[in-house]
Amino acid sequence: MTAADFVPVPGGVSVPDVPSVPARYADQRVGLRGWRVLNLDLDGVCADYMGAIRDYLVRHGRMSSDVRPRADSYNLVANAGWPFHTAEDYLAVHKAAEAEHLYATMPMIPGTDRALRKLSSEHVYIRIVTHRLFVSGQHRRVVADTAQWLDEHRIPYMSLCFTGLKDSMQATIHIDDSPTNIETLRAVGQHVVVFDQPYNRALAGPRIDRWDDESVDALLGWFEEWPGEERSADASDQAFPSAAV
Ligand SMILES: [Mg+2]
Repeated sequence: MTAADFVPVPGGVSVPDVPSVPARYADQRVGLRGWRVLNLDLDGVCADYMGAIRDYLVRHGRMSSDVRPRADSYNLVANAGWPFHTAEDYLAVHKAAEAEHLYATMPMIPGTDRALRKLSSEHVYIRIVTHRLFVSGQHRRVVADTAQWLDEHRIPYMSLCFTGLKDSMQATIHIDDSPTNIETLRAVGQHVVVFDQPYNRALAGPRIDRWDDESVDALLGWFEEWPGEERSADASDQAFPSAAV
């Protein structure tokens, strides 16, 4: 690309005078220099968290392998079939599973790796955003195991962020499964694709329910034009009306 293919940052900002956002992606901009940013949740989107907790419970004799616990609520304690009576019961199991390298060994949701490699090849900047540090005491293990899992599954990503404050992280598109996260992000005007799970079916789309070519194509289309938002005929002029090139 040449300099003419880029749009500069808006005037009045003290940053080096270099082009930043390719013109064709100007309406997918995030911050001053970011564009086509995908904030991607892990558990319930890329990794089968509930399946991994269930495997832990079966392995330790806390649940029969015949049991198929429900996932009607994001809160495991509220679902039928899980051996948790209180939040403390659940957190104790979660911490014990973490100690057994839950995050290094959990199953990948099929197709995640291939789909993300395809998105990455289409100039999508993948930023992993996960709330896995929600329990204190084992952060070194959680971070290391998460990075190991991502490497072993050859998942491309440019940033790895551990935060529960997902609405503080702007993106062109977010993908999440948590009803609370989805609603919070939408409340601050962010674009969120729902990753389909039983506990989020009451929420409006857009949504994907698997990592296949159809979902990748849908995501690429939503990067270009978010449903309900008409794309400008000349996105760069629309985004930076005073920035003559
Ligand atoms: Mg999640």
